[in-house]
Amino acid sequence: MDVSDNIFFEFDDQSEELHRLLAALKERLPDGRFHIVSEQGKNISLEEPLSLPSKIRKSLIGKAKKVNSLVQDELTGGIPAYATPVNELNAVLVFMLPDQLSDPATKYYGTAIVQLCIDLFLSQKAVRNEQEFLITQKKQLDRKIHVLEKQYQEILEENQKEYRRIIDSVEEGYCEVDLAGNLTFVNNALVKMFGYTRDELTAMNNRDYMNQEDSKRIFKAYNTAYKTGKAVKGIGFAVKTNDGAERYLEASVSLMKDGEGQPVGFRGVVRDITERKRAEEALRKSEQHFRLLFNLSPVGIFHYDTQLIITGCNNRFAAILQSSKEKLVGLDMKTLNDQGIVPSIARTLEGKEGFFEGFYRATTSPARIWATMHNAPLFDENGEVTGGVGIVEDITERKRAEEELKNTNEQLEEAIARSNEMAVQAEIANMAKSQFLANMSHEIRTPMNAVLGFADMILDSDLDEDQADYVSTIKRSGESLLSLINDILDFSKIEARQLGFEEIDFDPELIAYDVCESIRPGIVSKPIEILCHIGDNLPSLVKGDPGRYRQVIANLMGNAPKFTESGEIELSIDVEEENETRVKLHAKIRDTGIGIPEDKLSLIFQPFQQVDSSTTRKYGGTGLGLSICKQISKLMNGNVWVESEGEGKGSTFHFTAWLGKAEGRKTKKMKSVSLSDKRALIVDDNRANLDILKHFLESSGMRVAVLTKGKDVIPTLQKALKTGNPFDLCISDIQMPDISGYEVAKEIRNSKLKIKTLPLIALSSMMRGDAVKCKEAGFDGFLSKPVHREKLFQMLERILSDEDGTTQISKSKNKDSIVTQYTIREEMKHSISILLAEDNLVNQKLAKLMLTKAGYRVEVANNGKEAVEKYTASPGDFDLIFMDIQMPEMDGMQATQEIRNRESQTKNKKDDKFKIQNSKLRVPIVAMTAHAMQGDREKCLEAGMDDYISKPIKRELVFKVIEKWVLGT
Ligand code: ADP
Repeated sequence: MDVSDNIFFEFDDQSEELHRLLAALKERLPDGRFHIVSEQGKNISLEEPLSLPSKIRKSLIGKAKKVNSLVQDELTGGIPAYATPVNELNAVLVFMLPDQLSDPATKYYGTAIVQLCIDLFLSQKAVRNEQEFLITQKKQLDRKIHVLEKQYQEILEENQKEYRRIIDSVEEGYCEVDLAGNLTFVNNALVKMFGYTRDELTAMNNRDYMNQEDSKRIFKAYNTAYKTGKAVKGIGFAVKTNDGAERYLEASVSLMKDGEGQPVGFRGVVRDITERKRAEEALRKSEQHFRLLFNLSPVGIFHYDTQLIITGCNNRFAAILQSSKEKLVGLDMKTLNDQGIVPSIARTLEGKEGFFEGFYRATTSPARIWATMHNAPLFDENGEVTGGVGIVEDITERKRAEEELKNTNEQLEEAIARSNEMAVQAEIANMAKSQFLANMSHEIRTPMNAVLGFADMILDSDLDEDQADYVSTIKRSGESLLSLINDILDFSKIEARQLGFEEIDFDPELIAYDVCESIRPGIVSKPIEILCHIGDNLPSLVKGDPGRYRQVIANLMGNAPKFTESGEIELSIDVEEENETRVKLHAKIRDTGIGIPEDKLSLIFQPFQQVDSSTTRKYGGTGLGLSICKQISKLMNGNVWVESEGEGKGSTFHFTAWLGKAEGRKTKKMKSVSLSDKRALIVDDNRANLDILKHFLESSGMRVAVLTKGKDVIPTLQKALKTGNPFDLCISDIQMPDISGYEVAKEIRNSKLKIKTLPLIALSSMMRGDAVKCKEAGFDGFLSKPVHREKLFQMLERILSDEDGTTQISKSKNKDSIVTQYTIREEMKHSISILLAEDNLVNQKLAKLMLTKAGYRVEVANNGKEAVEKYTASPGDFDLIFMDIQMPEMDGMQATQEIRNRESQTKNKKDDKFKIQNSKLRVPIVAMTAHAMQGDREKCLEAGMDDYISKPIKRELVFKVIEKWVLGT
């Protein structure tokens, strides 16, 4: 497009304007002819285009443009033509005004009007344009404002989000409420505090979760914030959380305004102070607690600062000082007259503890007290001493009591010293008493010994019936006198707690039978049967004190005949309980006597107690026996008691005792030793005794020498040795005036000569249980006075058989045990060897078990033939044969006949084998049979048997047979 096009374009573009201008001019000057012409000649006109010579037209336009104002030119015909540039329209107005204008004014001002019209037109146009421009601008501005507003909104929202995010991340609770207290926003922390969801919370009002009082307080705070516009801080309140718990919160509240500054609600910052509140509560309580303790404490407590000024104290402190709190608090302790306590207090100011005990005279009060004071420092948080606290105790009373105690102690010590002295004297007296009792025992026994010994000797001589009866009575009375002495001595030993116990092996069965036998002589005149039952399980050996065990049984058994006129007295012993090492034996002593009334059942076990003192006159006795039994049983961890159905219905005494289990011992076979020609030395200071013993020993063919002084023993033995006529044994009394039996034994055992191994037997009239001492002194055997002849012989045979060269080994083995009259019987029983001929295996087993248990040695033969073979192979090995009758191969009768035949053949041949056994040269054979038929006994005896028992064999029957046929008592 060239420049002219552009011009035209503009011209065209403005044609509306140009037409409007032409219309405006025509309206003013209807006679004028107006054309708007471009430089290039383009012409716009409301009427016929102006026929203006182009020359004029060009000149007009040129001039007008040049001078930029109205120019005139002469048209042909003298009609003036005018031209004026209309710069705003980029055009030139060419016009002609006729001379005859209707309006003279117009005619005159024609061109000026045109010019005015143009100016007016142009100014209107400018105004219009301006207006348009302003409108456009306003629109643009509106648009901009809209965009900005949108941006602002977005930023605001973003800010809001960020703000909430921050609010949510803080630890404190944050909320916004409207003016009515309805929650409008809550942060996470608050949600957590309350336990409700955010939505639940924002549907709530403050009042929903607070008590009335607290919500009132909150609204009051809102009010203040509203009025003052300032935040209200530290409002505490409690809330109920969703789980029903109560939490304590603290809030600060501030007013919230909208954009226009109008109050719209409140924002609150909330802190959970539950823990603090609880801690405060606990602290308050503990404070209260301590205050209470402080005030009620039975000790005085006070505290002070670093200037030693008392800053506080409790009531007790004031009371101890007989002063008041008012006077004491504020008191400067440096001003006290009695400064005794100050060093202990001052120590606390150095951070140490202090202690004071002493007499204190307070100047601030009338108090004069003995006191103790403990002081400890108090520190601040930096460890600096801020003062101290002291605890004061008034120990005046204690001191007084101590003083009294000291005095009492001194008195007590004096008393103890006195009583010790008395105890020493008592001990001396006690020893004197014991010595006296021992001496008495000896003194009484010695003559009793003579009485009993001579009674025995007289009984040996020819006496008529009356005389024999008198002497027997003397003997029995003597014996009961002896047992009385024993009881009294035992009782005094129990009183003095000196009752000693031995631990040796013994056979309770033998004791049982012995005791039964011992009471038999006392009842010969009464229709009483004595029974003895031994339990099959009773061990053949137990460990304990046989003397004491026998003593209890003998006492109980000894009482029975005193109170029984007819019927039975039965002793049974059984095992009641046992463990690995011990066994509890239960002995029952039953009689059919007068019985014991129920109310006396326990009384009789007390010393000197009897059911009825009239019986004492009738039966004798001191009432000590049962009390001694009870004490002994207790010392054996058992008991003694009695049962009785009542008077006339008999009594049953029970005796239990724990005893040790003993290992079965191998007892060597006893060999018979002839006493005749053996040489014995007896030493005793008592002549009567010597006479009796000499008589006994000589009656058995022994050669006897006697001495009355212990010191003569060694020289006599040495002399005999030198002269080639040595002694075979020595019997020594224990209690002798110059040197005692113990010393005699020791001297012999310490001798360098052959007499060192001389068999020694002790003879003692002392109490039971002295065997141990005698053993220690070196004695081989122990006999107590009064001496029974039979027992003396058994002892001598036993001791001399030890001397037999072949048994030296067993002697040394048994060295640690002394031979007593009881052990001899035990040894005899336990050395018994039985040949049991029985074909039935079950019976064999049962019988063997029972016999072994009872302490015998058993050899089994399965039939008669075997029995004959075993016996004849070594006849000296068997003491007894139990022979079954019906057996295969050879029956009992045949076997017995065979054995008897062989015995008689051997007797004729004087076979040595049989001589050793015993003088009888005939083994006892006892038949055992299942069916006790009339006439069986005779048949058995005919066949050469000695006795007969029916099967199954019982332990007590076996013992009876053995007693009768082997032990020979
Ligand atoms: P004592 O030496 O008097 O017999 P004990 O202590 O042995 O002393 O007995 C005390 C009393 O117990 C006897 O005096 C008697 O009254 C009563 N007593 C003992 N044993 C029997 C018994 N078997 N039957 C009836 N009474 C008995």
